[in-house]
Amino acid sequence: MNETPRRFIIEDEDAELPVERLRVEPAAGRRTGCPFHDVREMLREVGLRPTRQRLALGWLLFAKGDRHLTAEMLHEDALRARFPVSLATVYNTLHQFTEAGLLREIAVDGSKTYFDTNASEHHHFYVEGDSRLLDIPGAELLVGRHPTPPDGFDVARIDIIVRLRRKSD
Ligand SMILES: [Zn+2]
Repeated sequence: MNETPRRFIIEDEDAELPVERLRVEPAAGRRTGCPFHDVREMLREVGLRPTRQRLALGWLLFAKGDRHLTAEMLHEDALRARFPVSLATVYNTLHQFTEAGLLREIAVDGSKTYFDTNASEHHHFYVEGDSRLLDIPGAELLVGRHPTPPDGFDVARIDIIVRLRRKSD
């Protein structure tokens, strides 16, 4: 994904956030088969040290299946789960996860950035008014043709956002 050398530093018990403190949706982890320790494993695999913040935010992000979240939404989730964290830390963590390939960043408008817990290539509907991002099922079909890039460039990725608005009738 990128060339930075991976370092594996694993902290022990002191890095562990008690799951009881993340009581937003107690069944969520079990339902999606993504329990807390999987987040630790996930961090370890990409070479991110499993700090309390990363474990907690990782759990909030990944324990509920595929989601599209802004930093503000995740910050609210964290506060609701009684995990005190600043919005700046949420931003930093989201960007670290994105750089590590755990998340995909999707800029919808100049000011609005979503983080997708499904980092594989897929495309989105954006519901205007609701500020909601939805996956387009079977979206690989949309990438049949793409413009020829200028000399010296490859197409790195194609992000398609189809904007939706409710019918007015
Ligand atoms: Zn998505």
